[in-house]
Amino acid sequence: MTKVVKFGGSSLADATQFKKVANIIKADSDRRYIIPSAPGKRFDDDTKVTDMLIKLYKLAAKGKNLDNQIKKIKKRYDDIIEGLEIKDFSLDDEFKEIKAELEYNPTEDFAASRGEYLNGLIMAKYLGYEFVDPKDIIFFNEEHGLNSYKTEKRVAECLKDKKHAIIPGFYGSDKEGQVMTFSRGGSDITGSIIAGAIKADVYENWTDVSGFLAADPRIIENPVGIDMITYRELRELSYMGASVLHEDAIFPVRSAGIPINIRNTNRPEDDGTWIVESTAHKPEYVITGIAGKKGFCAVSITKALMNAEIGFGHKVLQAFEENNISFEHMPSGIDTMTVVVHEDEFLTKEQKVVSTIHRLTDPDSVEIESDLALIAVVGRGMKSTRGTAGRIFAALSHANVNVRMIDQGSSELNIIIGVENDDFEKAIKAIYDIFVTTRL
Ligand code: ASP
Repeated sequence: MTKVVKFGGSSLADATQFKKVANIIKADSDRRYIIPSAPGKRFDDDTKVTDMLIKLYKLAAKGKNLDNQIKKIKKRYDDIIEGLEIKDFSLDDEFKEIKAELEYNPTEDFAASRGEYLNGLIMAKYLGYEFVDPKDIIFFNEEHGLNSYKTEKRVAECLKDKKHAIIPGFYGSDKEGQVMTFSRGGSDITGSIIAGAIKADVYENWTDVSGFLAADPRIIENPVGIDMITYRELRELSYMGASVLHEDAIFPVRSAGIPINIRNTNRPEDDGTWIVESTAHKPEYVITGIAGKKGFCAVSITKALMNAEIGFGHKVLQAFEENNISFEHMPSGIDTMTVVVHEDEFLTKEQKVVSTIHRLTDPDSVEIESDLALIAVVGRGMKSTRGTAGRIFAALSHANVNVRMIDQGSSELNIIIGVENDDFEKAIKAIYDIFVTTRL
């Protein structure tokens, strides 16, 4: 069995965390390819090394002296090396090279990538594993997208004869061979690409929580954990704000049918969450999870007999497209069509959109409602359970929450509910209570 194992920044923030990580790796010989992030926060007000490096880049871009900032960053690594008691090893030369490169040719991607690069060097030395620089095996194309074909080939070739390797997360190289990074949190993507390319059996993603929770712990005290979730359910939940894993990390393993196991470095005894393509494993509760976001607007277009007008919906959406606004949902009635959009994106172009709708559709009226929150109730178990929607609405009415919009996806995997921003927390509590706490 082959496992690709990624450790997040908080799992590698200092020497104590590094030791936990080493124990986890050594505890299972299937954990062969390791993807480290840069050192993250050691405590709440701490600064991530990646952010310190971005600051370093900004100083370099202004032609300022870099010594002080480099000293601070180097101290983070030196503390780790010292705490791990690694002998005959120093990053002095590496820091000289980083400084020279930034003084000569400052680029943000290069600076930011050094966080995982240096952490990878320490880890390789500490574990005695080979270091592989992702700049030689992960390739971007011109549009900053991944060159999957070349990457998969090179990753597979490179790792074919290596029992173990350390491959830093978060970066690769562009067409010119210059370092290029993924978006923030992108080490998750590196792990997924490596797992997909070598057809690993499992992609383990170690972080500081024991997997996904059924609801946001800032709203629900001690929510239950999710043991198993499908890729599709996860997509719905993460789109609506549940964030443990980078959104783009799902695709490379999903297309290869590889499960992801989210684990907690501080509680390795927990099984964490399994993210799988499909499962016969019955969910414990009817719903798998609840997530949501505030700050939406509903634009309702009314026109008598619009149901008979061919191409009406197309024209409505064209008005949004022409103004470069993406839409979230589109519930419709006989003579009304509502388009739900992000408020901050919409506000700046509001009147332009309204006039475009008038020009294209000649409506009877256009009404805008703001301060809407959307809540997604997600669960593969909902399809086979009668009365789920009824229970949600009974719970909301009981909690005195006015439902402003309902949208049930045709996949029966989720029900989206629109409520006022102010009712957001109350609504999530009511839904969680009915399905999980009281299991009515
Ligand atoms: N170190 C990078 C960041 O802070 C990437 C990562 O941790 O995944 O965004």
